[in-house]
Amino acid sequence: STPGGPRSREEKIVVTVRLRPLNKREQLAKDQVAWECADDHNIVYKPQPQERVAQPASFTFDRVFGPLSLTESVYEEGVKNVALSALMGINATIFAYGQTSSGKTYTMRGITEKAVNDIYQHIVNTPERDFTIKISGLEIYNENVKDLLNSESGRNLKLLDDPEKGTVVEKLVEEKAKNDQHLRHLISICEAQRQVGETALNDNSSRSHQIIRLTIESTLRENSDCVRSFIASLNFVDLAGSERASQTHADGARLREGCHINLSLMTLTTVIRKLSVGKRSGHVPYRDSKLTRILQHSLGGNARTAIICTLSPALSHVEQSRNTLFFATRAK
Ligand code: ADP
Ligand code: MG
Repeated sequence: STPGGPRSREEKIVVTVRLRPLNKREQLAKDQVAWECADDHNIVYKPQPQERVAQPASFTFDRVFGPLSLTESVYEEGVKNVALSALMGINATIFAYGQTSSGKTYTMRGITEKAVNDIYQHIVNTPERDFTIKISGLEIYNENVKDLLNSESGRNLKLLDDPEKGTVVEKLVEEKAKNDQHLRHLISICEAQRQVGETALNDNSSRSHQIIRLTIESTLRENSDCVRSFIASLNFVDLAGSERASQTHADGARLREGCHINLSLMTLTTVIRKLSVGKRSGHVPYRDSKLTRILQHSLGGNARTAIICTLSPALSHVEQSRNTLFFATRAK
């Protein structure tokens, strides 16, 4: 079975939006729901009584997921085809983009789990090939790279330019997964390690990017007409809070003190915007940040990308939600 239909093969960047439910804190604060999914494609701003609505009030995407949607559906309809192309030797990257507390980590963890299930299902269904899966995990905090599989690595691993592999992270641990259970265990180590950082450095997860990278290699057991060997990276990227993507709010007010712009996030938004415009976009500034250097070969070119933009429904977050939707619109 070949994952990905003909339509999905053409699409290089798939952008979806996921609206989460109001959380407890927002409910207690009597925050209002400001957005709703009118159908599978449109997300609409619900004006408050007597409000004059800023335009645009409605945004259209290939797929939007409402507050009751399951991560399963987000995976099946927004991610699966992109993720599974890595089994065929095509580099792929899945991003969660959105403001802090909008549901990036929640969504990304579920997606990663489902992709791991599918990868091992594919391995079972493809007895004619031998597969090797390796995993590495890293965090970028303040343009410093840390190994999530090696707590002794320190906080500032160097990036090196390898003539064949492109940008590599010096001394980054890459572990071979013995089976699906072992792979899940290694992923959970990365996630736990990120949480350690979160407690040590106040607010770490809103400022840091996490990349879990699977390298999937396969070779054919016997001679045949099929392609003999495949190798590709599949990257799961839980980005820093998007409130750090720009220096100003939509209303022009400066961000609150201490909320520095995040170079990697800002560069990524520029890279994605340029890629979505296509060939005429000229220079793509991959080299301007650690995140985009590390992901360069998994973004653009033949690589495939899925971006899940996560959104808080709360009225109190309306400006940030609008910014996320503008980003999502430009990424398409
Ligand atoms: P972020 O990583 O963007 O800062 P989280 O993923 O940590 O946000 O989500 C914030 C909170 O909202 C968590 O408690 C999480 O469990 C909850 N949450 C996020 N998305 C959903 C969802 N789609 N359905 C239910 N709860 C969610
Ligand atoms: Mg998070």
